[in-house]
This record gives sequence, structure tokens and C-alpha cells, in this order.
Amino acid sequence: MSRVNTVLGPVPAEELGFVAIHEHIGYGMPGSELDTTWWKSPEERYQETVPKLRAFREHGGGTFVDVTGICNGRDVDYYKSLSAKTGVHIVACTGFVGGDTALPYFARAGVEELTRQFVHEITVGIGDTGSLAGVIKVGVSRGGRMTDLDKRIYRAAARAALTTGVPVLTHLAIDAENAIAVFEEEGLPLHRVLFGHVDDGVNAGRTRDTWIAEQGGRIGFDTFGYETELPDPPFWARPRQERLDHFLRFVGEGRLTQVLASADANCSPLGWPGVRGHTVNYLFDDLLPDLRAAGLDEAAIRTVFVDNPAGFLTLQK
Ligand SMILES: [Zn+2]
Repeated sequence: MSRVNTVLGPVPAEELGFVAIHEHIGYGMPGSELDTTWWKSPEERYQETVPKLRAFREHGGGTFVDVTGICNGRDVDYYKSLSAKTGVHIVACTGFVGGDTALPYFARAGVEELTRQFVHEITVGIGDTGSLAGVIKVGVSRGGRMTDLDKRIYRAAARAALTTGVPVLTHLAIDAENAIAVFEEEGLPLHRVLFGHVDDGVNAGRTRDTWIAEQGGRIGFDTFGYETELPDPPFWARPRQERLDHFLRFVGEGRLTQVLASADANCSPLGWPGVRGHTVNYLFDDLLPDLRAAGLDEAAIRTVFVDNPAGFLTLQK
């Protein structure tokens, strides 16, 4: 049976339904839990998050993939309660958004130690929650080039992916030559890797999405909704039409089965105010209408949001 790890246990891939592949219940930089400026009570966090997940479910959403890595406020017991109360499957991740958010304890670790950590979180559990990670997050540190630590994390992720069958998802798809070199050295097939954020406003111009797809990688247009049209657009925003055109151009190259899409929103951000007006439900409220208006049919939409994520997340044994 095809199987995907969610925080409440394994689920057949066919039951995931509509998947938001790159999202956050709450993301913060390491240490932000100590900053009282943005401190939120559990009541506030539930109040901000539950209505968004309920709306996601009512829209037809099935699965929310939380890609908040180690050290960024990942809270799996909280995710379990959210999933149980809202009926949304939640997939949690192991790994790091980038070497520059790994606390010194992990930043000093070698490849074997990092591999052991990832494998443990996938096969034994995350902390004492008993929940198994369903995906491995890796990423490129600020600065635009992979650091030595980033490369150790990518290598450990590849080894953990091969050992456990869980896929790898990246934050940023820049410096892809170095990333792909690591994956190839380790023997990880590139259809097990989702190269994310090819559409973000800062890096879209220098991300070689077509080249990555030609190598066999999956491609994530997963910052939909961070648009310059927002009331307070963040620096990684991009004009709505420009991002849409980019996506449609890529799909038009015959890449429909390699593409995944998401909104990278926070339900309740940690240690920062968040981006006003942007939630996971952008996918239903704005993106799907835009895609339909652009002529994408229901079968194509199903491919992007149901079939491709199911294939990607299924444990390979
Ligand atoms: Zn993200």
C-alpha cells in the first residue's frame, strides 16, 4: 500500500486529496520563542490558525504540508491537535530551512550525525511526540550560494531519503548545480526532490527551473500570493500576473507532471508580524480561479494539486 507519514499516523496516498505542499502553521527564526514582543498565548495561536484550516477543509483541502524545519518553531503536539480537530491531514518535516537557521549544536554536526537525526525523526519520531516526519526540508543559506553546512545538510538529507523512502523538498532552487551534484553523488533520483521557490520575487530571474526539470527534478511554484498588490508586500513579493505568466509558461513547456504549487503562508507566524492578508486559502480564493480563467482544465488542476503531491510524498520502499 502507498503510504505517507502524517502527524496522526500513516495515511494512504490516495486519501491525501488536495495538497498544499509548502506551508507553515507557524514559522519563526531560532530564539524567537524568547522574544516577548511577538509572544502569543496558546489561545491566540489556536484562534488564528483553526479558522484557516477549517476554511481550507471546507474549500476541499485535504492535506497541509508543514515545512517548518528543526529550530524554527516546529510544534508537533500542537499540529496533532489541529489535525484531529479540523480533519486536515498535516505532514510534518525534518531537516532545516537552511544551514543559517541551524543552531550551533546542529551546525557543528557532520553528515553522519545529521543523517542519524533525520532518519530518527522519520522512523522513530520527532522528539517525544511519536509522530514521524513525512518530508525532509533543506535549503540554501542567505547569500545565494550553498555553504559547506548547507551541503552537509543536503548530503545527509539524500542519505536519509534513500534509507527511509521519504522525499526531499528545498527552500530556494538557486545554486541548483551544486545541489544536484550532491544528490547525484549520493544516488538520490531527482524525482524524489522538489526544488521549491522557483517563483519567489527575489530569485525567480536567476533560478534555472527549466534546466532543473530537464535533470528530472520536481519544480515548486510555492510562493503564490506574495504579491506586490498586498497591503504591506514583503521584499520577496512579485506582481500577481508576472508569477502567473511564469507558471503558465513553465506548464506550457510540457512540464505539468513535474510541477507543484503552494502559498508558503503562515497560519500564525512566530517572532514576526507575518504578512497581512496572505493565507493558505489564497490557493482556493485566488489561484484556482486565475488558473481556470487562464484555461487550465480540471484534470490539469488535479494533476498539480492531487496526483503530483501524492506521487512525491509516497514513501518509496
Ligand atoms: Zn516556507
